[in-house]
Amino acid sequence: MSALSRRATRASIGLVAASFLSVQGCQDPVEQVPALPIQYQTEHLDIGTDFTLPVCAGNLRLLDEQVEFVEQYLNVEIAAPIRVSWYYSSMDLEGCENPVAGCWNGYDVRSNWEALNHELVHAVVGSSWNVAASPMFSEGLAVALEGEDLKSLKSNLEFALSQEDLSTTNYETSGHFMRWLIEVYGISNFESAYSKADRGTSVEKIQVRALESTYGISIDELFAQYKNESPEYYRGLGPFSCGANPLPWDGARWEHSFELDCSEDHTLGRYENPSPGEIWRRASVEIPSEGLYTIRVFGGSATLVHCLNEDTNTVVDPGEHVRKSWDDGRGHGLFPWGGWEDALYEPGVEWFVSLTPGNYVVWVGTQGFEPREVSVAIEAPDPTSP
Ligand SMILES: [Zn+2]
Repeated sequence: MSALSRRATRASIGLVAASFLSVQGCQDPVEQVPALPIQYQTEHLDIGTDFTLPVCAGNLRLLDEQVEFVEQYLNVEIAAPIRVSWYYSSMDLEGCENPVAGCWNGYDVRSNWEALNHELVHAVVGSSWNVAASPMFSEGLAVALEGEDLKSLKSNLEFALSQEDLSTTNYETSGHFMRWLIEVYGISNFESAYSKADRGTSVEKIQVRALESTYGISIDELFAQYKNESPEYYRGLGPFSCGANPLPWDGARWEHSFELDCSEDHTLGRYENPSPGEIWRRASVEIPSEGLYTIRVFGGSATLVHCLNEDTNTVVDPGEHVRKSWDDGRGHGLFPWGGWEDALYEPGVEWFVSLTPGNYVVWVGTQGFEPREVSVAIEAPDPTSP
C-alpha cells in the first residue's frame, strides 16, 4: 500500500490556510479568492477539486512523491502542507491573474492537472528558500524538476537572460540551463545564485551579477562552458519522469496483467479536457534489440512511450505507433498524448511495431472508473533474442 494516508476531510480549514508569503509565481493567486474546500489529504498536501470525479489514489501518491522528490533534490523541508486547488479546466481556474494553467503563492497552489507537477516545485522552493527570484531562475528551476525530459535551446540563452517575462520557449531554455548549473556546480551554489537573482528592473544585470559572483567566472565563460559541455537532452527526474523498474520478459514474451482500480495507488485518473473519466496505469519494459515486435492488448487500450535512457546528445525518433518522452513531451503533466482516441492500441488487434532498443513505458487504460483488468502481450521478433 501507499506511504500516504488518505485521511478523512478535515472539518476546519483555518489552520491550513497558511500565511501567504510575498513570493510570486507564474502568476500570483489573488488572495481574496478562497481556496477550494479540502477533499483529500496526503502527507504533504491538502487538496480540493472543482470536479465530482473521484481523485484516484495513484494521483495522490504521485503528487505527494513529487513534493518529496523536490524536497530531497534541494535538501529542504516544507513546514506546512501545500494547499492545492485543483481545477479540471484551466478555463475555470480562480485566483490566478491571467489565463494560465496554474499559479502559486507561498503554500497556495491553483492549477489544472497538466501544470500541477510544475506548480508544486514552485510551492516547495518558494516556501523553503523564501526568495522572489527572477523568472529565469524560478521558472527554470520549476521546469528542471517537473519530471519531463529537457531539450537544450542553447542559442536562445542570451535572449532569455534579458527577459523580465518568459515565453514558453524561454521556460525550456532556462530549465535546461538551471539543470546544468545544479548538475555541475551543486545545489548549495545554485541556492546562492538563486537567492541573489532577485526580480525587479534591469533583471539581466541582476542575473549576471548573481551568476558571476556565485560561480567566480565571467558570464561569457559560464555560457561557453555550458554550451560546450551540457548534453543536448537531460532525462527527466522524479516521479513524473518516464520509465523505471522494467517488468521482466519470459523468454521472447513480455506479458503482464494489470488491475485498474481508482482506489489503489497504482492507478491514475486522467482529469483533462476532453477526456472525462479515464483510469490509467504505467509499467516499464526494456526493449532488448531492434526489430518488429507484436503487441496485443486485452480488456482496455494501451499506448507505448519511448523514454530517454540517459542524458544524451543524440536521440533516435521512434517510428509509427510509438510516442516519445522528449522534445514535444513537455507540459503534459504525465500523459504525453491527446485524448482517449489517441490511445494507440485498441483491444484485440494485433499491432506490428518497429522498435529500437531502450526503455519504454507501456500505459494501459480504460474509460470509466469501474475496476478492470487489462493485459498486454509484447512478442519479440526473434524468440532467441531477448
Ligand atoms: Zn511556473
